[in-house]
Amino acid sequence: MRRLGISTIVTLALFLASVTASFAQQKIDVVASFSILGDLVKNVGGDRVNVAILVGPNGDTHVYTPSPQDARKITDAKLVVVNGLGFEGWLPRLVKSAGGQAVIVTASDGIAERDINNKADPHAWQSVINVKGYVSNIREALVAVDPSGAAAYRANTTAYLAKLDTLDAEVRSAVAAIPVARRQVISSHDAFGYLSDEYGIAFVAPQGVSTDSEPSAQDLAKIITQIKTAKIPAVFLENISDPRLMRRIAADTGAKIGGTLYSDSLTAENGDAPTYIDMVRHNIKALTSALN
Ligand code: ZN
Repeated sequence: MRRLGISTIVTLALFLASVTASFAQQKIDVVASFSILGDLVKNVGGDRVNVAILVGPNGDTHVYTPSPQDARKITDAKLVVVNGLGFEGWLPRLVKSAGGQAVIVTASDGIAERDINNKADPHAWQSVINVKGYVSNIREALVAVDPSGAAAYRANTTAYLAKLDTLDAEVRSAVAAIPVARRQVISSHDAFGYLSDEYGIAFVAPQGVSTDSEPSAQDLAKIITQIKTAKIPAVFLENISDPRLMRRIAADTGAKIGGTLYSDSLTAENGDAPTYIDMVRHNIKALTSALN
C-alpha cells in the first residue's frame, strides 16, 4: 500500500475544511438599496443572510450613481430589497444592466403613501409604524426565496417588531412632553413628513422632498419669514446635506442649531446612528432637547 505524502494529506484536510465551511455558510445573498433597509434585512434575516448595501453610511440615495460593483452584487443576489415610492430612481436601469435572477421586493408596499406636490414622498421609514410594514414585507420575501428558513425569519421578525413597538411608544411619550407650540423645526430637505404626520412635530424644509436641487432665493426668503412669524425655535442639520444653508438660515432668523438629524442614511458603526433604532432614538433625543 502506498502511503500518502504529507502534502497530499494537508491538501485533503484543507479541501474538507473548505467544503464543511461552505455547507455551514450557505447564506442567502440579499442586496439592500440603502443603509436603513440593510439594517432591517439583517434583523429579519439574521445569520441566514449575507447583506450587501448599495448606498452606504452617510450616503445620499436621491442622487446616487451606481458603480460596476453594484451591478455585480445584483447579478449574484437572490433578493433585492428597495424602498420604492420613487426613492431609487437609478435602480431600474441598474437591475436591467445587471441581469441575474434576483427577486425585487418593495419594502414600502402597503403603507399609507404621503404625497407632496402630487409626487410620492419616499421617506416612509421616518414613521416606526411604517417600518413595521417594511419588516413584514422583508420577512415574506425572505420566506419566499428561502422557505427552509421560514421559522427563523418569523422568529427574528417577531422579536424585532417587539423592539419597534417599544421604540414607537418612546417616540410618542417624548413628543408628548414637548409643549405643543414648540413642536416645529426646520430641516434641510423635506424628509420628515411621515414623522410629522405620525407623531405631530411640524417640519419646514427649504430644499423640498429630494436633495437634487437648491432652494430659490424666493423660497428661502419665504422660509425665513415663516420661521420668524411662527417663532420656530430650532434648525437642524442633516448627515446627508450641506450644513451651510442651515447655518445661514439660523444666523438670519435667530433660531438655534438643534444638532444633526439622520434622515436618509445611517452612520458607520462608530457614529450616532449605526442602526435604524439608534437613528430614531438619536433624532427624537435631538428634537426633544432642542424644543423643550
Ligand atoms: Zn431624502
